[in-house]
Order: sequence, then structure tokens, then C-alpha cells
Amino acid sequence: MLSVRKLVLTSLLSLVTVLSLSHLSHAVVPEETKVYELAPGVFFRKCQTEPEFLGCNQGWIIFKDFVLVIDANFPNQAEEVIELIRKQTDKPIKYIFDTHHHGDHADGNAIYKAIGAVPIASERTKPLFQTLGLEGFETSKKEKPDEYGSLDYKLPEVYFPRKMVFDDGEMRVELLHFGHAHTGGDAVAWLPNQGILFTGDCVVNGAFNFTGHSDTASWINVIDQIKKLPVKTLAPGHGELGDLSTIKTQQRYFVELRKEIAGLIKKGRTLEEIKKEVKISWYKKWTGVDVLEREENIEHVFGELSQRNQ
Ligand SMILES: [Zn+2]
Repeated sequence: MLSVRKLVLTSLLSLVTVLSLSHLSHAVVPEETKVYELAPGVFFRKCQTEPEFLGCNQGWIIFKDFVLVIDANFPNQAEEVIELIRKQTDKPIKYIFDTHHHGDHADGNAIYKAIGAVPIASERTKPLFQTLGLEGFETSKKEKPDEYGSLDYKLPEVYFPRKMVFDDGEMRVELLHFGHAHTGGDAVAWLPNQGILFTGDCVVNGAFNFTGHSDTASWINVIDQIKKLPVKTLAPGHGELGDLSTIKTQQRYFVELRKEIAGLIKKGRTLEEIKKEVKISWYKKWTGVDVLEREENIEHVFGELSQRNQ
């Protein structure tokens, strides 16, 4: 992404992390938080994941009269992003679009609500927000009292079935739900004029794909639909910026993982054996870890495939 203009190099928090590790010769290079202007008025904030996981990637789009933010993130990250936006524009932050119900994407809704923004999500996420989303929030509130304090959980207030469009004649953003992928209700934000796609966790770039709430067969189909969009820039839910090839890589992982596991089931292998035998050699280059280290994903896909066999 050489054409991308790097705006803000590091958040204060990640700068501290970088400095504190700089004396270690073999330290993991921290994937620090960075903000990019992908096109005039279209911003992407890549959130640090290593050595400490701070939250999800986010975007914001400055329309003529308002700002739309993509993914609320955790409460402390929401505050940082609002501060960044306030340095760029006085326009009201009117909408916060949650790509899905996971806490690292939506727990900051309360921070946005407090400044008058309306949380938006796909209709399919509604029951997920009301159950898993709320439960996750209450757990995090107990675990991180300093960050969550007395915040109350804020549900989305606008739900759309398949598509919701923001268009003021200059800027156009389409929120699109294609089906069950990473969760039952994932939606993406598509900017057709710039060819920019914000995917939430429907596509991540080298980061861990949490499959616990997924349907990987349906996920592959959803990515088939996403691939039809003329994507020039992919802004993933986690990991670095990418392009159409990243979307294909994400899909390839699930196609090959399912194929590998199905083949081993056919040979009569147990889950424990399969967890030692799955091979996807290119996976390490993409993610930095061997495919066998993603044990949860192997277990999940095994569960999906053995259910189908019954
Ligand atoms: Zn997620």
C-alpha cells in the first residue's frame, strides 16, 4: 500500500510500548497503532495487536455534514479515536457502525452514545448483541473496572436487513450484510467510489480468525460475494491493510482447512490426531504461526464437519 499516506504514526500508549521494548535485541516488533488516510476524508486506524492486544481496527468517514465511524472498539480505544477525529473536524460524529457484536468491536458504543452518535448494525446481529454481546460486556466490566467503570451496555439503535446506504452526493458508504461468516450478523462497509472495503472480522490480515461463532462453509460463500466487489484497498478487522489478494487468502485458509480436516475424518482420524496432522504450509508465512497452533479453529471445523456426517 505504497500510495497510502501515513498520518499519525503512533498513539501515545503504543509509543510507550515501543520504547519499553527497544532495549531488547530479540523483542517482537510491536505492531503499533497507525492511522492512514486511504482517500480524502476516509481514515483507517490499524490497532496494535502485538505485544499487547489493544482492540480492533477502525475506520471513519467524513461526510459533508457528519462523521460515520466503523467499529466502536473497546471503550478506551473509542476515546482515543474520538480525540483523533476531533483534531481533524468539528462535524458531529453521528453514526457508529458495529460490524458485529464482539466486545473488541462494539463495547465502546456507550462512549459514542454519550456524544450523540447512533449505533448501527445488521438485523441479524440483534439477538447476538442482546445475549453474547451483553454477557461479554459484563465480563469485561468485571475484569477491567478501570476502563469500563460505570459504563452501561449500549445496544445498536438502528438495524438494517441487507443494505444501508449513506450518500450525500460526494461520499457514499454502503453497509452490507451477506450472511453468516465470522458471526451470524457480520456486515461490511463498502465505498464504491474509492474501492475501499472495511470488513470487520469477516476478513482479517494474518491475525487470529476467531471461529467460535462462525459457520465456515457459509463464511466461504460470503467471501465469494465480497470478492465480486472491485476492491482496491482492504481495511481488515485486524492486521495490516491489504487488497483483493488478502480476501482470497482469507478464503483459501477456510477452504483448505475444511478440505484437510474432511480428508482426515474420512481416514478415520480422531480429533486429537487431526490436531497434530493438519498441514497448510503457506499459513505460517501469512500469520507468523503454524496452522496447528490455531487449535480452536481445527476443533470448530471438526465439529462442523462431524455434525454434517451424522
Ligand atoms: Zn470478532
